[in-house]
Amino acid sequence: MAFRQILGNEDVLRALRASHSHGRLAHALIFAGSEGIGKKRAALELAKLILCLRPLEGEPCDSCTACARIESGLHPDCRVIVPDGTQIKIGQIQELSREVFFRPLEGKESIFILDQAERLNEEASNCMLKTLEEPPSTSRLILITSSLLALLSTLRSRCQIFQFSHLSTAIIANYLSAQSHLPHAEAETRARLSHGNLARALQTDWDQESELFQEALEVLQAIFLKEDLPHLLYVAEHFGRDRESAGRWLVVLQTVLRDLLVLSYDRPERVLHRRGLEALRPLAVRGDAGLWQRALQEAHHAQRAIERHANRSLVLERLFLEWLQPSGACGPAPGRDSVR
Ligand SMILES: [Zn+2]
Repeated sequence: MAFRQILGNEDVLRALRASHSHGRLAHALIFAGSEGIGKKRAALELAKLILCLRPLEGEPCDSCTACARIESGLHPDCRVIVPDGTQIKIGQIQELSREVFFRPLEGKESIFILDQAERLNEEASNCMLKTLEEPPSTSRLILITSSLLALLSTLRSRCQIFQFSHLSTAIIANYLSAQSHLPHAEAETRARLSHGNLARALQTDWDQESELFQEALEVLQAIFLKEDLPHLLYVAEHFGRDRESAGRWLVVLQTVLRDLLVLSYDRPERVLHRRGLEALRPLAVRGDAGLWQRALQEAHHAQRAIERHANRSLVLERLFLEWLQPSGACGPAPGRDSVR
């Protein structure tokens, strides 16, 4: 891996490397931005660049022992601190505060990467603040966070902040196509449904998502095209057995309803489920924007009810029957609130 292989965020990475090469990199840094967009990867590449035995043109060599050990988590001068359970606790930061003042063992610097820094609890944050007041020149701290505002303002003000952005659909889709040889429509569907989060695009179980999409499509077809009540009762009973899968299915159902809504506005380019576009079109014309907005709202309410432990089969049956009403299937029903 190298900086140039990190997807997207070219400006941030260029600024980071320029700061390093001009000796202007602060000793406490924050890498901020949403999950799964390469912040930790960039922190590790920076650690390599600093500790590499043969850096070349602002890139670590990626082959010396220092680079290899950082990559495998074994370099004695590069430590990654992660939450202990749900929080980064005071004991972890007290230990870090001591280590920060030790001389590096092999390289010219010690690098501490604090992953999910928004999980610093209050005590740990205050302890961190003291550490950041006078960090020694031989230590560098990199705080990684998906929630910059969750960090103490006094902590933020002591750090040089690098703000990372979401990755574009095109960047993720091209990457997925190249890596996994996926058909373009499938890569684009995955990229769109991942909302700029490469980690999510890589880690999601897409076979399962595809099944849930197919089931959502069949339910909507059973309601709006075929009025197939037995199938709907079967689905309500099937998802009634398992709260987690019912919740996940309702999330996918909402992405499908959202696609029907954008199709009713004649905006096919904004459809998330690109691979299902042709199946979605005949459904979309069965309602107008008002109908799909209401359906989206009702599916969201059903998801919330199931999260609150309502009877799952009953919630789903009620939802399907509501949509089966002639007023639901043919257009906006009078007297029901629409949501924009
Ligand atoms: Zn190297």
